[in-house]
Amino acid sequence: EASSKPESVVLGENIPAPPMVYISGEEMTHYASQLFVEQWIKPYFDTSAWEVFDLSCKSRDETDDKVLHDAVAAGARIGAIFKEPTITPSALQVKEMGLSKAFGSPNGAMRRGWNGITISRDTIHIKGVELGYKNQVLFERHAVGGEYGAGWDQVGEGTLLTTYLPKDGSAPFVVDKRDLTDENNVVVVYHNPYDNVRELAHLFFKRCLDAKVTPYVVTKKTVFKWQEGFWATMKEVFDADYKKAFEMEGLLERCGGDLTHLISDAATMQLIRWTDGGFGMAAHNYDGDMLTDQIAQVHRSPGFITSNLVGKSEDGNLIKEFEASHGTVSDLWHDHLAGKETSLNPLGLVEAMIGAMQHAAALDVERNPEDVSKQVVQKKVMNFTLTLREAMHNTFRYGQGTRDMSGPSGFTTEDFISKVAWRLQR
Ligand code: NAD
Repeated sequence: EASSKPESVVLGENIPAPPMVYISGEEMTHYASQLFVEQWIKPYFDTSAWEVFDLSCKSRDETDDKVLHDAVAAGARIGAIFKEPTITPSALQVKEMGLSKAFGSPNGAMRRGWNGITISRDTIHIKGVELGYKNQVLFERHAVGGEYGAGWDQVGEGTLLTTYLPKDGSAPFVVDKRDLTDENNVVVVYHNPYDNVRELAHLFFKRCLDAKVTPYVVTKKTVFKWQEGFWATMKEVFDADYKKAFEMEGLLERCGGDLTHLISDAATMQLIRWTDGGFGMAAHNYDGDMLTDQIAQVHRSPGFITSNLVGKSEDGNLIKEFEASHGTVSDLWHDHLAGKETSLNPLGLVEAMIGAMQHAAALDVERNPEDVSKQVVQKKVMNFTLTLREAMHNTFRYGQGTRDMSGPSGFTTEDFISKVAWRLQR
């Protein structure tokens, strides 16, 4: 059987892993992450420069959520973050876990704290193994705005006024006035902050060019007229800086020679039809949430999708937080607790670990340009992470993958992790 040895990385070498933030979560993904960090990373790296924050509900409760604020502050300072999935407790979970309150999603605090621009979600591919999409699909989900930050209330009959008070003190005006004639209404107010759409456009088009895929912009602007600005900014950036390069690569042939807009409902259909892949989509926050879950289903498993939040620090460096696109996989956790076999696909989690370690190494080199040892470490991190990816992919290729991919004969969570550890040592 083929094995993979990290070139110039030796078992027990204790390479100093560059500083990054490690956010630990709970349930099955926490259990599996602990296993692979112990068996795959620690035999090669000294991870003492990682700053670890426990964002389990219990720890958030015990610290009155100080731990979340500390994690966000550390992420802004360091700029490279690995995050395990976390639980946003439901009313029932608040009771079950004996929490003092229903803590909100930590993801929102992170997106705000790190000036989130986009959540990039891409399909993971294993050469020689057929998944849902044959070629890469990239996705850019606007990281801020929309329904998530909405203010709302339940009200009766009356009039609703939405008034804008300009910061410069000029005259306020009414944005919307509506008469409510039902006895029972839910009223909702939200906004889409558009300042960073230009940056999102640059990140998106660059990534599409690098991956040689055709970009599409998705909105519902035909009906939701306020979304026009998103498309207009994307198109402007495209025409000014990217159109020629995409033409040269022949990437606009499948979409009529120009950047193409897709209405979000049409996009859901194309995602099912375009299984050859080879495209990218950029969308608003909520549309992106829905569409990327659909991509995960078409592509076989949420374990085969990456999820990276890209934001910006005060000094202009990119803050990147890497996580899997799925949740804590509660169903397998309950099986595990009941003593049953489980088969968690760790690829999304491990791609997140790989991304975080690589970004941490790159930032460490950038911040210490005189220090040659940082460059040596960066090279070792690159070699190790590429070898790790190869070792996982080989394990899948040899039919030793997890059961979402290989069926009932596939490996258990623990056996898959040991097999990859073995392959790394050869
Ligand atoms: P989930 O993504 O954990 O699981 C959905 C389904 O997909 C389950 O049947 C699960 O077994 C399967 N699945 C997901 N990832 C898999 C993998 N890597 N390998 C094999 N099977 C996999 O979503 P859920 O069950 O709706 O949520 C569970 C918990 O996760 C909830 O408490 C929720 O709050 C939390 N959550 C967290 C995040 C995050 O931190 N980013 C995101 C979503 C959900």
